[in-house]
Amino acid sequence: MAQPTSLIEKTWTGTAVSAGVAHAVVHVLKDHFDEPDEDSIEPGTADAEMARLHAALEVTRKEIAELQRVVGEEQGSAESEIFETHLLILQDSTILKQTEKTVREKNVCVDWAYYKLMCKHMDALRGVADAYLRERFLDIKDVTQRVMRHLRGELLQHPMFDEPVIVVAHDLTPSDTVQLNRSKVLGFAVETGSGVSHAAIIARSLAIPAVVKLHGICDDLHSGDAVLLDGEDGLLILNPTAETLARYRKREEQAERREDVFQVQRHEPATTRCGSSVCVGANAEFLEEMRIVQDSGAEEIGLFRTEFLHLENPSATEDELAAAYTQVVRALAPKRVVFRTLDLGGDKIDAREAMEPEPNPFLGWRGIRLSLGRLDLFKRQLRALLRAAGHGRVGIMFPMVSGVQEVQEAKAVLKDCAEELIAEGIDVPEEVEVGAMIEIPSAALSADLIAAEVDFLSLGTNDLTQYTIAVDRLNDRVAGLYQPTHPAVLRLIDMSVKASRAAGIRVGMCGEMAADLRLTPLMIGLGLNELSVATTQIARVKHAVRRLAVAECEELARVVQTCASPTEILNLSRAVAERCYPELFE
Ligand code: PEP
Ligand code: MG
Repeated sequence: MAQPTSLIEKTWTGTAVSAGVAHAVVHVLKDHFDEPDEDSIEPGTADAEMARLHAALEVTRKEIAELQRVVGEEQGSAESEIFETHLLILQDSTILKQTEKTVREKNVCVDWAYYKLMCKHMDALRGVADAYLRERFLDIKDVTQRVMRHLRGELLQHPMFDEPVIVVAHDLTPSDTVQLNRSKVLGFAVETGSGVSHAAIIARSLAIPAVVKLHGICDDLHSGDAVLLDGEDGLLILNPTAETLARYRKREEQAERREDVFQVQRHEPATTRCGSSVCVGANAEFLEEMRIVQDSGAEEIGLFRTEFLHLENPSATEDELAAAYTQVVRALAPKRVVFRTLDLGGDKIDAREAMEPEPNPFLGWRGIRLSLGRLDLFKRQLRALLRAAGHGRVGIMFPMVSGVQEVQEAKAVLKDCAEELIAEGIDVPEEVEVGAMIEIPSAALSADLIAAEVDFLSLGTNDLTQYTIAVDRLNDRVAGLYQPTHPAVLRLIDMSVKASRAAGIRVGMCGEMAADLRLTPLMIGLGLNELSVATTQIARVKHAVRRLAVAECEELARVVQTCASPTEILNLSRAVAERCYPELFE
């Protein structure tokens, strides 16, 4: 049974990263494990408990053996050797004996006995200096996670909740989010992270509240606790009282009335006071978002992050991918959908790739590098995208390019795929736009070379900021340095926009900076006229654009060129924003 918690209201303050309020019970993912309760067992049932463990170990063994086979086939025997360690841990007789001893002596369920023992081993390895031994910690963790899930009869890929829940976690990686039953998730409360971590981005896409930097909540909360999550003020309130709930109800009613005013015009174009139009598109990750996108007022999907579909089903066939992409294209037609090819790596790790940990994944095998190194995966995706392109208007965009050569290589693979399809008698539209993301400083600095090769550029400011300032977008400790208005970031944006204009191609922005209403005047001033943002922000960004005049924004962009301080630049843009559309800051 879950430990009873006192019913006194208690509040934690974190950082709000996705708006909204949710009131529900929590589901705590403790360091990727759901910690089992220390349930007692009936006398005489120890044998049955041990039989449950043996069954879970056997299913896990089969699962790992299968992974070993697949990785061996795809990447060679050296890569698949890692699974030998996993199998050894699984079959370790000392672990079995100690677990059995605990079950029999303490009369506790085998879940708890096994979990506690494995935690002890992990704790012992976590702090050791030797890198090899430290890595064994990850092996034990992986095996324990699999066994625990099988003990509970959960499918490894999809932890299910019967009731709607607020998910509480230490951190929430993209592969965690794809494994959740998202239809039942009402909000995210996370101990680490930032506004540009993927948990935050996903929450905004799904239009659910999220609060990060809620330190200590994983220890203090238990699955089943009732909380209120406030994605406006960054609060998590355990056992909210009747007065608190009434206060929030009133606040929500007022917010809804205010929001209605912006929403009324969401399907109208966004045209500045002086008549310039700005294309406001949506960022999306999942098929289930298409209805929200259609209803949001989005003029296109400016960024479809395809890696999330991949993480959901890494072994999807070309036919399955083509069907999924076609669903997106049809849902948006005749509007354009820009599919970003897989941006795996970094924090978006495929379980299979993760078996070979990299010392610095953000500087490692990520985005287009991984795709060009895994042509099987890349071609499967490109062929599926080209097939989907026959059903509407499609852009194909390459992520994490560091220079023009990668773009040329990727285009050559795309051309091969198109020729193969045509030879097979499959229709490929002549006009599929090709684009590149500018999210690495070297790409911005050589934007003129890249622009000569593509139909459009898209600024990924989440990574551009991270790589320009050398500040990890997920690291709490250096979060203060993560400032998209740093003059260096703005100069790279400016350079990329100018290179696109000179080449006569489109340029947009799909990083989170595009949705920051304080910065809309500066973005327009820098010459951006395509902004792709979370669906929840579309009506607001359009409203902001309608209240701006380009000349005033350009003057702002000129003034900030002489400013050294990111905060000063932010404040200058915010001042224009608050003067032109104060209602969005109420
Ligand atoms: C970006 O880096 O700005 C971007 C849009 O890509 P992602 O956030 O998925 O890395
Ligand atoms: Mg990026």
